[in-house]
Amino acid sequence: MSANLDPIHGNGMTSLRTRQRLVKRLRAAGICDERVLDVILTLPRHLFVDEALASHAYDDIALPIGFGQTISQPYIVARMTEALLAGMQPQKVLEIGTGSAYQSAVLAMLVGQVYSVERIGKLLERARERLWSLALTNIYLHLGDGRLGWPAHAPYDGILVTAAAAEIPAELLQQLTAGGRLVIPVGPPQAQELLQVERKSFGFMERSLGPVSFVPLMAGVS
Ligand code: SAH
Repeated sequence: MSANLDPIHGNGMTSLRTRQRLVKRLRAAGICDERVLDVILTLPRHLFVDEALASHAYDDIALPIGFGQTISQPYIVARMTEALLAGMQPQKVLEIGTGSAYQSAVLAMLVGQVYSVERIGKLLERARERLWSLALTNIYLHLGDGRLGWPAHAPYDGILVTAAAAEIPAELLQQLTAGGRLVIPVGPPQAQELLQVERKSFGFMERSLGPVSFVPLMAGVS
């Protein structure tokens, strides 16, 4: 069957076998949440990148999505999702940096509602079309500066940021529910670390999940 006839299930380099290989690799790299691995197996990542790059969609690498931005490496998507979900079942999640909407789609298959903010209008338009064609209807998109969160729908049980901040934006901490969790890369290029921050009754508890490399969280809308 040609890829055109079966775009969602894919064939050849986008087939189930190719996706199984990716899942095996993620497992070997330490991802162990079966819910997350299952979603990565099911979700057609090749539909979130340019057709010319589709044959690399199940390699464990970041790929360009235009405007100097990238779709995150599958390992990082899995790691962040696992960190957000560990020991809890968030209903309402805010994502900052929609990009291709791949991470948004992964989340949407695991939580109740996903609110996602992107600062580049053209990327947001493409993301909207893509999500529409995949019939993912529990994702709400917003054009804005994600450093400010999305106060209209706050508070959130979980917040996931997919671009690196110089420091944790106070607005994001304020938009977390008590018991909620923020997963965010923080720090300058070459020295970023992934942080997991939990809102407790007495304040915030922070721990590092190790070094990472993300595009920077930028100011304003474009
Ligand atoms: N989650 C995306 C990753 C995209 S890369 C994916 O799976 O494809 C990070 C994204 O964050 C880029 O699209 C970039 O435009 C966006 N971004 C950077 N700064 C931002 C800000 N202040 N507010 C919202 N989005 C931002």
